[in-house]
Amino acid sequence: MAKYRIEFDEEDCIGCGTCNAVCEENWEMDYEKNKARPKKTELEEVGCNQDAADNCPANCIRVVKVEDSPE
Ligand code: SF4
Repeated sequence: MAKYRIEFDEEDCIGCGTCNAVCEENWEMDYEKNKARPKKTELEEVGCNQDAADNCPANCIRVVKVEDSPE
């Protein structure tokens, strides 16, 4: 089960490319729309996604910890 979820507010994205620069592993650019796009939104590890969130000038990326559901 995924432990983290990426929340991305595409409307606020200004297409600056920073997330792609710091975390190419999970962030790609759609140059036609001039927006970023996460490759995966359900994650086992935060990896560089927190760097992407911290450096996003539009503050439109959040890394949310998913609570373990009781079995
Ligand atoms: S860093 Fe933020 S504003 Fe810049 S392309 Fe990525 S999501 Fe969009």
